[in-house]
Amino acid sequence: MRIVFLGPPGAGKGTQAKILAKELNIPHISTGDLLRQNVSENTDLGKQAKDFMNKGLLVPDELIRQMLIQRFAKPDVKSGFILDGYPRNLNQAETLDDILSRLKMDTDLVIDLKTSESVIIQRLSGRLVCSRCGYNFHLTNMPPKREMTCDACGGKLYQRSDDKEETIKKRLAVYAAESAGLIKHYQDKNKLYALSADEDPKVVLKKMLQLVEKRNDSLKV
Ligand code: AMP
Repeated sequence: MRIVFLGPPGAGKGTQAKILAKELNIPHISTGDLLRQNVSENTDLGKQAKDFMNKGLLVPDELIRQMLIQRFAKPDVKSGFILDGYPRNLNQAETLDDILSRLKMDTDLVIDLKTSESVIIQRLSGRLVCSRCGYNFHLTNMPPKREMTCDACGGKLYQRSDDKEETIKKRLAVYAAESAGLIKHYQDKNKLYALSADEDPKVVLKKMLQLVEKRNDSLKV
């Protein structure tokens, strides 16, 4: 199953996508994670992307397109994938259709995670990320057992430089401006399903699995 996750920054796309990818045993591809890896390794792409990311702006489409083509060249995507953080505008959605059709693939299901702005700001301004395994914690909602240390792997936790209130608001404004065309694109293709991200992650997982099953059944017909 090839799944795309939509939703504003802080809707929990990364967390839910990781859980669902593990459950379905398919790779989780996050363009934000791929970009942060490039920034930390100081690659050419990372150097070009860094300033846009720190300002909460989108990295130019062409840079992300190249990065994605490289990722889709890996054999693990043959079993399916969950794409998180891409597409973020109509141009990227059309690019994705093009990349996939060249690989004789198509998007099967698009999950649109919905949540309110106040929940997002509370979530992101307290988010802590493990520098080693990428696992997320929260200063008050889900604090680690040991201060700034990952419960899962012992790695050091950090706050993302774009998780400041000012930058979060900028990222939300960018999402609002760019997402309408994107949502219509997938609505027109009958692939879009909205889910509330404000429920317990176990409940969200159950609903996502029901969607996957329903979609699988309709693809068989
Ligand atoms: P995320 O981890 O998805 O919140 O992404 C963090 C930042 O990476 C975003 O604020 C953008 O600057 C950049 N980014 C991630 N995915 C994309 C994309 N599909 N297009 C452009 N920029 C992106």
